[in-house]
Amino acid sequence: MKIISNPLELKQYVKNKTRDSLGEQKSIGFVPTMGALHEGHISLIKKAKEQNDIVVVSIFVNPTQFLAGEDLDTYPKKDEADKKICEFSGVDVVFFPRAEDIYSEDEVSLLAPKVRGYVLEGTSRPGHFNGVLTVVMKLLHIVSPTRAYFGKKDAQQLHLIMLMVQQFFMDVEIVPVDTLRESDGLALSSRNVYLSPSQREEALKLSASLHLAHKMLRQNIFDANIITHKMRECLKPLEVEYVVVLNRDFELIEKVEIGNSVILVEAIVGKTRLLDNIWL
Ligand code: AMP
Repeated sequence: MKIISNPLELKQYVKNKTRDSLGEQKSIGFVPTMGALHEGHISLIKKAKEQNDIVVVSIFVNPTQFLAGEDLDTYPKKDEADKKICEFSGVDVVFFPRAEDIYSEDEVSLLAPKVRGYVLEGTSRPGHFNGVLTVVMKLLHIVSPTRAYFGKKDAQQLHLIMLMVQQFFMDVEIVPVDTLRESDGLALSSRNVYLSPSQREEALKLSASLHLAHKMLRQNIFDANIITHKMRECLKPLEVEYVVVLNRDFELIEKVEIGNSVILVEAIVGKTRLLDNIWL
């Protein structure tokens, strides 16, 4: 497994690797992460391995997607363990840049859409998605992957990345990957380490509320108001940022349409912002 921190070196490496000795094109699967890897990340890597000849994983805690006062300085770092996980998972190249390898002074800027980038998570984290889209755009240009893998857990991020790829006519397939959970339902997240045992118990309310929504759908209750109201009751006493029913274009809908809906929830447990959702 190769570890590269210089973007131009990685670009060259990938260029050399994607053509074999007979000149045949090889596919590249790319998994961007912020490190502190867990089973959720590993499921993305596994899918990338299944579908591609070469797998590149990036580990980069992207400063531009953190707002002032957020957890940039305390974000969990497990560099050595992450490298081992990548090695065991059969990753070909780990891209481990420093902030100065990616950013310079007086940058060209990329802005998230004014509406879809500033609702839901974008309401409490205005500008967050500017940073996300900027780094993903840069990483996709460095790696030039055939396919890039993103978790459905970060549904708004996934939606905006797909929108960017479409609107900028980019040549990459974005592959959404299902959310991996602990056996009790908690969605895996690098930020779960911030939770105390009692907060972890409270955090289970997010997946429980989605479970409840699923149960209501099985009872033929499709009304978004009724479902979100019941979910909010289930989430008490957590500080709920939003509970919404959207279609796959990320527009609010009044009735769940099976095959075209996502129910999203965001709540704060202690000081930790937790996201979860189900795709229906
Ligand atoms: P992060 O390191 O948190 O930026 O996540 C890197 C990628 O892993 C993103 O595409 C996330 O959506 C995805 N991811 C995070 N948690 C999970 C999970 N529990 N299941 C599947 N994918 C996940």
